[in-house]
Amino acid sequence: MNSTDDGVTRWVNPAIRAMQAYHVADSSGLVKLDAMENPYPLPADIRAAWLRALQQVAISRYPDPDSRDVKSALKRVMSIPAAQSILLGNGSDEIIQMIMLAVMGPDRCVLAPEPGFVMYPLIARLLGLEYVGVPLRDDYSLDAGAMLRAIAARQPAVVFIASPNNPTGNRFDRDVVLSIIEAAPGLVVIDEAYFIFSGTGLVDLLGHYGNLVLMRTLSKLGLAGLRVGFLAGPSAWLQELDKIRLPYNLNVLSRISAEFFLDNYAELEAQAETIKRDRSGLYKALHGTEGIRVYPSAANFLLFRCLESSADELHRALLDRGVLVKNLHGSQPMLDQCLRVTVGTAEENQAFLDALHQSLAAGSG
Ligand SMILES: *Cc1c(COP(=O)(O)O)cnc(C)c1O
Repeated sequence: MNSTDDGVTRWVNPAIRAMQAYHVADSSGLVKLDAMENPYPLPADIRAAWLRALQQVAISRYPDPDSRDVKSALKRVMSIPAAQSILLGNGSDEIIQMIMLAVMGPDRCVLAPEPGFVMYPLIARLLGLEYVGVPLRDDYSLDAGAMLRAIAARQPAVVFIASPNNPTGNRFDRDVVLSIIEAAPGLVVIDEAYFIFSGTGLVDLLGHYGNLVLMRTLSKLGLAGLRVGFLAGPSAWLQELDKIRLPYNLNVLSRISAEFFLDNYAELEAQAETIKRDRSGLYKALHGTEGIRVYPSAANFLLFRCLESSADELHRALLDRGVLVKNLHGSQPMLDQCLRVTVGTAEENQAFLDALHQSLAAGSG
């Protein structure tokens, strides 16, 4: 009889066995500033109205496979041109996976600037699709020449551009992005997960390029637990992607909730305004901290570098003081000695700053 181990060794794809599972840090009891979550609870009246909406759910039925109401609400709230199609995903992570499944094959690759969103290389590797990373410049701006040369040489099926970028936080130059869309032989995905914190994005370009799609998510707006992301773009592309989508990928609770929150969008916008305001306070405080270099951000987090000390040690020292941030050291050469902190409530931000200053004064980090 085969042992379980023998079966795993024989049958699981070696590339999968060699991978590490995506690690989510244990955050119990900590000030959680590692994952770009909105820190604010819903106001009591909105929460009560949401729970009333959920009471209408027909839980014994499969969800509406088209989610037409969510799509039209998204178009209305986000000013998506009427002629564009919408594809919904169980988070935008699922949409990234659908896009890669649609184009994968021998001699195919996808391309993105680096450092960038970890899910692009991670999902590509999972699918056995080649991933090409093109370094950003030292200030984390797009290197137009390097991008255009890599696109010409590699002919990527898809170019992913997250703007604002994660984990660097900056927004990319519009003209450089335009030159990339014009040069790319394949699809260009503009990932605007942080649009609500960054002012106008590139939604106005939709409809002007046959190879341009815009991806957004409700996660960073205060709805990370819902898992709702979407893609807007030309129907010729989205019809193909829709064949890959599993029929009921958006569950009925997420669908009803997404409709509800899009009807109450002003509340999410108000919370984002508070976060933007607190982002500048946190930026100034980090900017004034000796031994730290903080980078400008158009998102709900800040990237900073330890100049004279170790990010690993500082990360540990912050944890010892009850604060969880993201340690990026070791993930990518351009993120050497870097940590990323999500903008929390005023109290959480202060707890982080206190822990940071204590840690640095104690010589940790
Ligand atoms: C958080 C994030 C997403 C993924 O969001 P989900 O919708 O929660 O899967 C996509 N792109 C970028 C750049 C992100 O930072």
